[in-house]
Amino acid sequence: MKYALIFGLVLVVIWLWRSSRNKMASPPAARAQVAKSTEVVACAVCSVHLPRIEAVAGKRGLYCSAAHRQQEDH
Ligand SMILES: [Zn+2]
Repeated sequence: MKYALIFGLVLVVIWLWRSSRNKMASPPAARAQVAKSTEVVACAVCSVHLPRIEAVAGKRGLYCSAAHRQQEDH
C-alpha cells in the first residue's frame, strides 16, 4: 500500500512535469496528435490491440499487420 502511494505520487509528478512542458513547447495541434498516437485500436482479423499509429489502415478497417490487411482487403 505504501509503495502504491509512492508510485502514484511519482506518476502525478511526471504527469505535471510533462503537461507543463507540453504547454510551453507545442501548439494545440501537436498535443492533439499526441493524444491520437496513444489511442488503442483492435485488428479486424485477430482482434489484437495495438496503438493506432502502428496499425495498418485498410479499406474495411485497421489491422495489426500488412498480412492481415491483405487477408481482408482483396
Ligand atoms: Zn491481426
